[in-house]
Amino acid sequence: MRIAVIDYDKCNPDKCGHFLCERVCPVNRMGGEAIVIDEDNYKPVIQEASCTGCGICVHKCPFKAITIVNLPEELKEGCVHRYGVNGFALYRLPVLKEGMVVGILGPNGTGKTTAVKILSGEMIPNLCGSNDSWENVIRMFRGNELQNYFERLKEGNVKKVVKPQYVDLIPKVVKGKVRDLLKRADERGILDKLVEELELSNILDREIQHLSGGELQRVAIAAAIARDADFYFFDEPSSYLDIRQRLKVAKAIRKLAEEGKSVVVVEHDLAVLDYLSDIIHIVYGKPGAYGIFSMPKGTRVGINAFLEGYLPEENVRFRPYQIRFTKLSERHSQAGDVLVEYPRLVKDYGSFRLEAEGGTLYRGEVVSIVGPNGIGKTTFVKMLAGVEEPTEGKVEWELRVSYKPQYIKADYEGTVYELLSKIDAAKLMSNFYKTELLNPLGIPDLYDRAVNDLSGGELQRVAIAACLLRDADLYLLDEPSAYLDVEQRLAVSRAIRHLMEKNEKTALVVEHDVLMIDYISDRIMVFEGEPGKYGRALPPMGMREGMNRFLANVGITFRRDPDTGRPRANKEGSVKDREQKEIGEYYYV
Ligand code: ADP
Ligand code: ADP
Ligand code: SF4
Ligand code: SF4
Repeated sequence: MRIAVIDYDKCNPDKCGHFLCERVCPVNRMGGEAIVIDEDNYKPVIQEASCTGCGICVHKCPFKAITIVNLPEELKEGCVHRYGVNGFALYRLPVLKEGMVVGILGPNGTGKTTAVKILSGEMIPNLCGSNDSWENVIRMFRGNELQNYFERLKEGNVKKVVKPQYVDLIPKVVKGKVRDLLKRADERGILDKLVEELELSNILDREIQHLSGGELQRVAIAAAIARDADFYFFDEPSSYLDIRQRLKVAKAIRKLAEEGKSVVVVEHDLAVLDYLSDIIHIVYGKPGAYGIFSMPKGTRVGINAFLEGYLPEENVRFRPYQIRFTKLSERHSQAGDVLVEYPRLVKDYGSFRLEAEGGTLYRGEVVSIVGPNGIGKTTFVKMLAGVEEPTEGKVEWELRVSYKPQYIKADYEGTVYELLSKIDAAKLMSNFYKTELLNPLGIPDLYDRAVNDLSGGELQRVAIAACLLRDADLYLLDEPSAYLDVEQRLAVSRAIRHLMEKNEKTALVVEHDVLMIDYISDRIMVFEGEPGKYGRALPPMGMREGMNRFLANVGITFRRDPDTGRPRANKEGSVKDREQKEIGEYYYV
């Protein structure tokens, strides 16, 4: 079975010399019609039944708009939804189970939100044809666990709640005070408990428009949990949250399953997904072209298979390399030369005061910055970047600093290529930067796009690439994982590590994703204090000491997975959790 997908946002028939694909297609040249021109829309259409899959059009299209893939025949039966003739195709769906959290793990653009829309009844899937009725959907899923669910959905017999992905959009549609919003949602009469669990008490009287990203996220999650439904969907619940908040949210979501509800969660933070899920589905495919839901897997086995890049039951390799975490408790970055000794720095905003102890940074190392939201991490990075003046102490150095801020704006008129080539055109051509940075982050695919039109995740990747392309001694990256999927987070982590090691440069990275912290860090800088009031930054320390200090503040213990070496959060009160807390080893045992 073969599918042809055309990305019409990229296709530009005037700029390829007038439908180049049609002119080069051997089937068309022989008088056949694999590619026809839709005159009304002025776009090419590939007729899959006539296309031989030779791939010539794929290579010739200057905008890489065409994807042709051969898929196993048995998938034909599993085609659930297709956005138009040469549109994105979704194969199979996740299972739903009462009393369980089903986690979904996969790249952006592979149909996770589409699946959630279908399961929540927001959209009847077209079964890759012209279907518009639930009866046909029920027929397709006969004998499948979803049959009964779709029957109930058709009868209007399913109460469901969706926590949307983009919480930033909530203030555009909901006005008023947090307390009123949550009261309206509280069908289960559990508001007081939720407010305590998700630490919402001091924002109850705030206007929704005035909430930060992390506050909006927790309010949206509380509002979803407070509803009395059978099925709950959470699309990326950890965005904008710090580690402690992520695990609090995970616990609150898990409680729903413990009460017999059916829960589905799409999540990119692997430690959170692991902690949260009873079973998981991996979605694989090609972003924007097709996505396939794997069979359900046990959480540990599934995440390990994901890191391996290989699904044994399906016999599918979806990544050419595996991802491994070092099981060593320490790396030895201090063996390198000293880059800089920075002094004690203080920033006093009046209502908030940060005191950062002085410290030393070495060449070739990556230091992660961890701590709760509102503790002064961004303030510290801004002082090093020279964006904020310290109240006490001075950043007096000759170092060249390259800084990627937390909140990035697309205020550039021009294409991605123009933006990046202004920074360093030679590096864009260099094989080293292509292999280590540009290709893994998928930057060449974005070259022709206008910076203003990029999505959050695309803009993040371009901003990271721009930061790392600059010639500097010290690279400061504030929350590079925001808006990225797991694959992209791992690609960014590898790029940062390799570039610092190979170029003997230094990076400071503010991050909340524990796997990413573990993967990239030589050392760690811990921020403590009382969020919103005062913060204290400790000097960089070894991973073991730093993670112990940080996790003790948070009250969470991690162990390592014996196969992949990845960190796994222990369930609170479990034997491992109690043992590790007793001996004060929150991270490495
Ligand atoms: P994910 O949630 O995994 O990021 P989505 O389900 O949002 O993925 O989208 C998968 C793909 O489907 C997108 O890359 C996009 O190409 C396509 N798509 C999504 N919505 C539409 C739509 N309304 N019309 C056409 N194509 C769409
Ligand atoms: P983090 O990065 O750890 O989340 P930030 O450094 O962004 O923390 O902020 C720490 C505290 O400083 C917050 O309470 C924030 O409201 C406050 N703050 C940040 N910038 C300013 C500013 N320009 N004026 C006043 N207060 C600020
Ligand atoms: Fe031209 Fe590519 Fe569009 Fe075909 S798909 S018309 S080659 S831009
Ligand atoms: Fe024509 Fe080959 Fe492209 Fe199919 S893959 S549309 S046969 S050029």
